[in-house]
Amino acid sequence: MNTQLIWLRNDLRLADQPAVRGAAAGGPVAFVYVLDDETAGQWAMGAAQRWWLHHSLTALGADIAARGGRLILRRGRADTQVIEVATALRSAVHAIDHPEPWAKAAQQAVAAAGPTQIHDGAFLARPDSVRAGGGGRYRIFTPFWQRLQEQMPPPRPLGVPDMTFADTAAIASDDLDAWDLLPAAPDWSGGFDEWQPGEAGASARLRAFAAKAAGYDTARNFPSDAGTSKLSPHLALGEISPAAAWHAMSDAAGAKAQPWLRQLGWRDFSGNIIEQSPDFGDVPGREPFLRFAHRDDPEGLRAWQKGLTGYPIVDAGMRQLWHSGWMHNRVRMITASFLTKHLLIDWRHGERWFWDTLVDADYGNNACGWQWVMGSGTDSSPFPRIFAPIGQSEKFDAARYIRRWVPELATLPDAAIHAPFDNALLALGAGVRLGRDYPLPIVDHAFARARALAAFEATRAG
Ligand code: FAD
Repeated sequence: MNTQLIWLRNDLRLADQPAVRGAAAGGPVAFVYVLDDETAGQWAMGAAQRWWLHHSLTALGADIAARGGRLILRRGRADTQVIEVATALRSAVHAIDHPEPWAKAAQQAVAAAGPTQIHDGAFLARPDSVRAGGGGRYRIFTPFWQRLQEQMPPPRPLGVPDMTFADTAAIASDDLDAWDLLPAAPDWSGGFDEWQPGEAGASARLRAFAAKAAGYDTARNFPSDAGTSKLSPHLALGEISPAAAWHAMSDAAGAKAQPWLRQLGWRDFSGNIIEQSPDFGDVPGREPFLRFAHRDDPEGLRAWQKGLTGYPIVDAGMRQLWHSGWMHNRVRMITASFLTKHLLIDWRHGERWFWDTLVDADYGNNACGWQWVMGSGTDSSPFPRIFAPIGQSEKFDAARYIRRWVPELATLPDAAIHAPFDNALLALGAGVRLGRDYPLPIVDHAFARARALAAFEATRAG
């Protein structure tokens, strides 16, 4: 048996892909990707990321075909499908280690069924290799990051290895179009045209951002300008290796790359947390939050999802998310704080909405992001830190961002656009009828803040 089956998951690339390299060194290779909507349960891939997956698999399949190989597509339980293909090909299996609980379970089942090599490559360093002096794992970012840096820089990225291909003609493969990953009725993906899923698109974005990486620290918090890399969907589906991203930014910006590299470190940290707490997407990291009294407010949730809260920065963010599948990090924090604190709605509702609408949906990053904002995470912002939507909008100069995503406010001057309801005359002068063209705030800021703090105190006293 020397055929080597490469089981692709959220590592959809050929370059700097240790499973591809390991397999290519062992014999003729075959590739399989399994769309598994069964084992992840509620964390089956969301709608926006399915759009991405369709295009990413199209690009990867074409790359593999251009080299003389074939990407086998299967649908069903990942472990069952991979074992079936590996048995038919009499092959060993190569895969990259992933920390999501369903991904770990599948790789354990495959490894139990036959020869399997699990490789690193999803992170800068293997999450369980970053340990404190006494051997314990970290639950706080800063010491984790300090220790991770001792292993940095990561090895320089390697290109696509030479490969020979196994004969897979006898193996059935699904038709990608039959998976219906693209939205049809209605097609809401019109605003996704800024993205180029796939390895080539990831490299192009990497190069474009490398030229600006030195300015990241000053530009990153201003949503009106494209000051961050927008590499997240490419990293989430593994179209580029974290090591390649690390070196591209270090080479381009030297010491000025450090703030960006630190953000990449947060991604490793999230992997480290969900490896330790696999249910982190559902269960608060801090015990008092198990009894937090969330409000049941379907109308508030709907207004938030649709970007109709009456707070322009919140609405701009939620509409950017809906239209483009992505939201600026600063605005993710503001919108998440608004949902969980202004509306007191359970953070898991927001987490699931993001899961369905983000092209960069990532179980670890999403859970950690929501729990960070809620204050329930292992390392998180204290609950009483309630983002003031108007203050944040002014401080981070979001006027142009709001004009782009909330066009009914586009005529408002900067002085009124962050809080039209406090500037009713200016709004009227600009032709915006509050309550008709744009909603009045669904909740008063001072009232909401006091209510949230009271709920938190009750939880603590609890
Ligand atoms: P850049 O600023 O260019 O950062 C580079 C890379 O570092 C990102 O692509 C990402 O891989 C990583 N990164 C940056 N910030 C973080 C962070 N805070 N935590 C973990 N990794 C980070 N990120 C996701 O990838 N998927 C998610 O599902 C996700 N959900 C989030 C939910 C909430 C409520 C919050 C507050 C944050 C969430 N994030 C998530 C983290 C962050 O907002 C995004 O990674 C970032 O906005 C992506 O844009 P970028 O690629 O331009 O980032």
